[in-house]
Amino acid sequence: MIDLPTAQVPGIYHRRIGEIVVTAVSDGYYDTPIAAYRGITIEEASSAFERRFQRVPPRISINAFLIRSKGRIALVDTGAGDTMGPTLGLLQRTLATAGVAPSDIDTVLLTHLHPDHSNGLVGPDGSALFPRAELVVSEADVRFRKDDGARARHTVIEQLRYYDHPRRQIAPYADRTKHARGEVFPGVTAVPLPGHTPGHTGYMVSSGSETLFIWGDICHAQELQFPNPEVTVAFDVDPEEAVRTRRRTLDRAAADGIPVAGMHVHFPGLIRIVRNGSGYSEVPEIWAYEMA
Ligand SMILES: [Zn+2]
Repeated sequence: MIDLPTAQVPGIYHRRIGEIVVTAVSDGYYDTPIAAYRGITIEEASSAFERRFQRVPPRISINAFLIRSKGRIALVDTGAGDTMGPTLGLLQRTLATAGVAPSDIDTVLLTHLHPDHSNGLVGPDGSALFPRAELVVSEADVRFRKDDGARARHTVIEQLRYYDHPRRQIAPYADRTKHARGEVFPGVTAVPLPGHTPGHTGYMVSSGSETLFIWGDICHAQELQFPNPEVTVAFDVDPEEAVRTRRRTLDRAAADGIPVAGMHVHFPGLIRIVRNGSGYSEVPEIWAYEMA
């Protein structure tokens, strides 16, 4: 008898951008409630997923990205840590398989303060999991999450998820935190993408003539939001602004033809965008053993 495999090897995918190497590192996956999608009926959303052979409730990837540039290593987003169940929080294991120790990372760049992106900053005891890292996060997101007046208008669960957790995550990095503005790491520039959260930020990675845009949560479900960028999610802070930012970003990605990387684009999350009727569609990268 032979043993049948029951799980994948940890998800790692390297992509060279000029002299820089970007590595997709999987934190796992999350099944989102179908009712979280707005601007589309549950029936329409379900049939859009089923047409693409996706399960309902839809399963989305949670990706983070390493950036190796000029002898330094940055990590963009940190996954969910131990806060969102057993299908997430794999990042530390994935990093170990990629040969990267938490103390090798000298900069953590956050796209925004949401549980699946920032809760991996600290361990269960509240201590920093990246002992040497400087934290780069948008000033607008930090201000928003520290707003006691806004916090008071939410339910207890939302207060915990969107206010208390982020405050706890960024606290041990307080004396080594920088605003996400301009060049934040060699070859990496912060790009404001407000809407999903007030300080939602993308990171443009450039080296020589090559560019990759890490766009955070411009899309949660590519099956819905590429054909129809007007579809929003329940956890968009400003849905109308999120739609404007998504349209602008997809339009630019299609016009420029540059590769983009998304935290919730199916792992490894690297695609290109093309126009398709009144919307867009994606062209995934093709895996190759040798890195281009
Ligand atoms: Zn997210």
